[in-house]
Amino acid sequence: MKLAQRVGRIQPSATLATAARAKALVAQGIDVIDFGLGEPDFDTPDPIKDAAIDAIRAGFTKYTAPSGTDELKQAIIRRLEADQGLRYQPNEIVVSCGAKHTLYNLAQALFEQGDEVIIPAPYWVSYPDQVVLNDATPVIVPTQAEDGYTLDPRRLESAITPRTKALILNSPSNPTGAGYARAQLERIAEVALRHRLLVISDEIYGQIVYDGFRHVSIASLSPEMKALTVVVDGVSKTYAMTGWRIGWAAGPAALMTAVANIQSQSTSNPASISQKAAVAALNGPRASIDRMVAEFAARRNEMVRRLSAMPGVSCFQPQGAFYAFPDVSSCYGRHHNATAVTGSQSLTTYLIEEARIAVVAGAAFGDDRCIRLSYATSLDHIRRGLDRMDAALAKLKK
Ligand code: PMP
Ligand code: GLU
Repeated sequence: MKLAQRVGRIQPSATLATAARAKALVAQGIDVIDFGLGEPDFDTPDPIKDAAIDAIRAGFTKYTAPSGTDELKQAIIRRLEADQGLRYQPNEIVVSCGAKHTLYNLAQALFEQGDEVIIPAPYWVSYPDQVVLNDATPVIVPTQAEDGYTLDPRRLESAITPRTKALILNSPSNPTGAGYARAQLERIAEVALRHRLLVISDEIYGQIVYDGFRHVSIASLSPEMKALTVVVDGVSKTYAMTGWRIGWAAGPAALMTAVANIQSQSTSNPASISQKAAVAALNGPRASIDRMVAEFAARRNEMVRRLSAMPGVSCFQPQGAFYAFPDVSSCYGRHHNATAVTGSQSLTTYLIEEARIAVVAGAAFGDDRCIRLSYATSLDHIRRGLDRMDAALAKLKK
């Protein structure tokens, strides 16, 4: 069978592949501690589940409008106004089957051959592949831990060409946990406005922030910037609802109409029941979010402290999300018995085999010096898993 050429240009998602590998080992009875997947380990709060059960019982089990129910769009609009002071109309919102689907729909609506899309690295695994799947070219702009893993506006400006179609910004970031402060966003916005650069702003970790960091949407900086921004968000992380598959975009009406048309010809609406659950999540009290964030904060502290104490390992202090992205490159060029560690990929293999911990190679996020550990797992797992990692790294010899 001859597959379309675009398939040959992408890799399966490294995060999902790592998760599958860890689950397969656990199914064989092997005690693997999984730091691979970015998925809250908390259960979806009961009032949200109840809303879904009520929806089923009430027969809310049919197609909805392809771009989402009015009720959910109104709930999204209220949140954007309350959290960021942003005002949208219902025709500026499209609800999709998760933020990943939202991002893919945007890529379909916007990108074509010859287009360049600027992506700061380290980046979330799916951004470059979604660009490539839509025949455009990712332009990767590196950022450094010393600069807080935020995009230098001068480097952004020098990456812009007449072919540049958009910038994909992710604050707080997966995988680094870096968050952009308002002043940094203002400098990015200044460049974007000067070049009429569309910003796809993935804000899915906007509520999962620490030490008083406040997430600011670049769209909220000015009406001009709002007109150049598509805000992407969803319920997966904030409400521990990864399996429900609800994400959305808020942006200019013409673009949102194009996204809605694509969706009407591809997936139709996201699940009606999940939409009812998402309404309950967005309209519900903050208490469950605050509880989860407090727990994530304790785990972050423990994970970063333990990683930083390992010889040769340095770890950036995340301001949001639930990932640590330590630089482990001092281990490269070392070996244990017949196993040589040459980069993040081989270290990841070594760690699963020797330490029985699953982590994701930094190479998948555009930075081979690092590995990613999700701390969306219990403190007990973090302590035991990092003991194992420490012991395995100590066995590596020059
Ligand atoms: N953006 C980022 C940065 C993510 O880490 C994820 C992880 N799932 C997503 C988007 C997509 O989330 P979902 O499709 O579950 O809404
Ligand atoms: N975003 C999560 C992660 O980075 C879930 C996996 C995925 O959607 O790729 O682990």
